[in-house]
Amino acid sequence: MRFLGRENLGGRVLKVVTVLSLAASATALISAKSLAQQTQTEEMERRAKVLQALPPNAAKRIFGTNPAPAPLAARAIGSFARGCLAGATAIPVDGDTWQVMRLSRNRMWGHPDLIRVVERLAKAAPREANWRGLLVGDISQPRGGPMLTGHASHQIGLDADIWLTPMPNRRLTRDERENMSATNIARSDWMDVDPAVYTRSHLAIVRLAAKQPEVARIFVNPAIKVAFCRDAGADREWLSKVRPMWGHNYHFHIRIACPKNDASCVDQPLPGDGDGCGDELKDWLKKQYAALMKPKPPRDPNARPPKPPRPWTLDDLPAECREVAIAR
Ligand SMILES: [Zn+2]
Repeated sequence: MRFLGRENLGGRVLKVVTVLSLAASATALISAKSLAQQTQTEEMERRAKVLQALPPNAAKRIFGTNPAPAPLAARAIGSFARGCLAGATAIPVDGDTWQVMRLSRNRMWGHPDLIRVVERLAKAAPREANWRGLLVGDISQPRGGPMLTGHASHQIGLDADIWLTPMPNRRLTRDERENMSATNIARSDWMDVDPAVYTRSHLAIVRLAAKQPEVARIFVNPAIKVAFCRDAGADREWLSKVRPMWGHNYHFHIRIACPKNDASCVDQPLPGDGDGCGDELKDWLKKQYAALMKPKPPRDPNARPPKPPRPWTLDDLPAECREVAIAR
């Protein structure tokens, strides 16, 4: 259950939520509210702290500090939350209809297939979704792999975060890209969207993303899915790809399926048919409400803090990731 609550494995996780892990997921949810939006200073401080605590052979350190992609053929290796990426390409930091945010994190790398999908979505956004352009959040590190901060997934270059705020009508400065925040579109009780910020263009941009054939899943907060379910009208097939997930109230998360003929890539089963607007969504809302809105019992000041999990080394990743880690 170590990934629960981070951007992870999708709807199946819900079925294996236990009482114990619910507390952990709530904590992760709360941090997920702010993690993606942290400013440059906050992010640097967090990184320094994480690095200090990690052994030299930690996979997070190896992948989190390598500034350049592995010059190998493009391959997504392993699974979304345990793997790495060979032959990554970076999305250009500026396009006519997109701008990449948080440049100092160096997470604008992805499998070429994903970068193509994001660029295609950005180009179609103004015309087809009344959305001026994309603000692109985290994709992957240059060689994928586990990250020093945030995200359990995003490891194999097939996941991309897109802000739920449209691109402004000008180029953002480097400083703005580091420090400005997206808009939270969830209502304060987490049961629906905030009508003061939510627009039909939010639905339209996520629908457009879901209709790209490569896209397998999109994660949004359950509160946002509520609005999509209400506003989608008769065209509802795309809703099956839109999965409720903790966090994801400032950005939505696009996941494409494994590229064809990529034998090293471990796919997830596709989400089932149906719009997912029924019991499953209600269940998510209930759990989220309980986790975020109900008072928590006070923490026992004498309780020992839980032991942190052993940091992964290269041995915990697919064997091919060793080659990716050292390739030059
Ligand atoms: Zn994400």
